[in-house]
Amino acid sequence: MGKEELKKRVKVIIKRLADNYPDAKCHLDFKNPFELIVSTVLAAQCTDVSVNKTMTPLYKSKYKSPKDILKDGADKFRDEIKSINFYNNKTKSIISLCESLEKNHKGRVPDDMDSLTELPGVGRKSASVVLGNCFGKEDVIIVDTHLKRVSARLGLIENDNPDKIEAELKEIVPEKEQFYFSMRTGEHGRLVCQAKKPKCGECFLSDICPSKNKF
Ligand code: SF4
Repeated sequence: MGKEELKKRVKVIIKRLADNYPDAKCHLDFKNPFELIVSTVLAAQCTDVSVNKTMTPLYKSKYKSPKDILKDGADKFRDEIKSINFYNNKTKSIISLCESLEKNHKGRVPDDMDSLTELPGVGRKSASVVLGNCFGKEDVIIVDTHLKRVSARLGLIENDNPDKIEAELKEIVPEKEQFYFSMRTGEHGRLVCQAKKPKCGECFLSDICPSKNKF
């Protein structure tokens, strides 16, 4: 399918996603960019529910800034997040992240892609999550597992590499729709187009989906 055809298909998909998931939002709990960037790093290979369960009370009681985590130190922080997968490595990442925020950004989370991706442990996906959810940037594609799966099944992408997927989708999804498209495909992936058994019979995209009933 050519680019123009793809753009037409994506337009229909965007409209239907917006009709069905008008309020799709991030599933990590956060009150500010600091909380979201920490939780996003902790959520790698782990559920948002598990991160929220551990981190929401901690943000409320003691971790209000990078300084607070650094003051506690790695050992105490590791102890606090023990219920989260890969807590050892994640402790190292969060400590480095907090040190860098303190040293280079006066303890504040920067609001541009280059500065965010220079932070330890923060890739384009995490940076896009923060830019879209905390700083109102619309031109970000968040390449998570749901967006990858749903976009592939809908025939919108050909690549498997996250950077290439981001570039492919940026070519066909209008800039002001990119963040919402990301949030809403996430929701569709969670609720309907699930990894193992997609519910094609009840999917509002089935008439235009090349993967209908193929799984
Ligand atoms: S028709 Fe099936 S495979 Fe296609 S988007 Fe819907 S649930 Fe996913």
